Amino acid sequence: MMIFTNTIFFRQDITLYATRDIPGDSVISATYTHTLWDTPRRRDHLWRSKCFWCRCRRCADPSEFGTWLSCGACPGCGGRVAPADPLDPDPEAEWRCDKCSRATPAGEMARLTAELSGELRSARWDRADPDSLERFLKEHAHRLPDDHSLAREVQQAIVNLYRAKLADIMENGQLLRKSFLCEMRQLHIILHCLRHHFCFSPVIP
Ligand SMILES: [Zn+2]
Ligand SMILES: [Zn+2]
Repeated sequence: MMIFTNTIFFRQDITLYATRDIPGDSVISATYTHTLWDTPRRRDHLWRSKCFWCRCRRCADPSEFGTWLSCGACPGCGGRVAPADPLDPDPEAEWRCDKCSRATPAGEMARLTAELSGELRSARWDRADPDSLERFLKEHAHRLPDDHSLAREVQQAIVNLYRAKLADIMENGQLLRKSFLCEMRQLHIILHCLRHHFCFSPVIP
């Protein structure tokens, strides 16, 4: 039985926080990746750092349990572009739009994510300023759907920045945005959904 945890590394110590009750003599596991990363980024990271292609239930599910963290926006119709087989590491593996069926190679989707990630980390955007991050999401909304992992990372950063401000000095617009992000429970639902579905170990066929 695998038991899932949240893990904190500090110097030479590892602290594990259980996310569910742990029966005696159980195996304890920890994720090797970031929970909000999309499947291509998680699998690539695991391949490069741990030398295995993860084949866990989350990686095998094109929707990642309905969170759609990997999926991009179709440049033709705005539909959702999802991998036909998320476990295929070939850059030519087919991703397809759910509306117009337009096919896109996996490598092109990965390049788009890398390009947007690089853009987010450029000097153009102040990642300590929620307004700047909001503008980033708005400017790239045609390529970066709200439910893409990179958009979720930005949304989480915005919520954390808002949380750090005192509520009584926040402008109404910011309060409304924070309320929207939180009360829509988008991030909460995703984190709850994924908490017990980390990439955790290679599966021996
Ligand atoms: Zn399309
Ligand atoms: Zn996995």
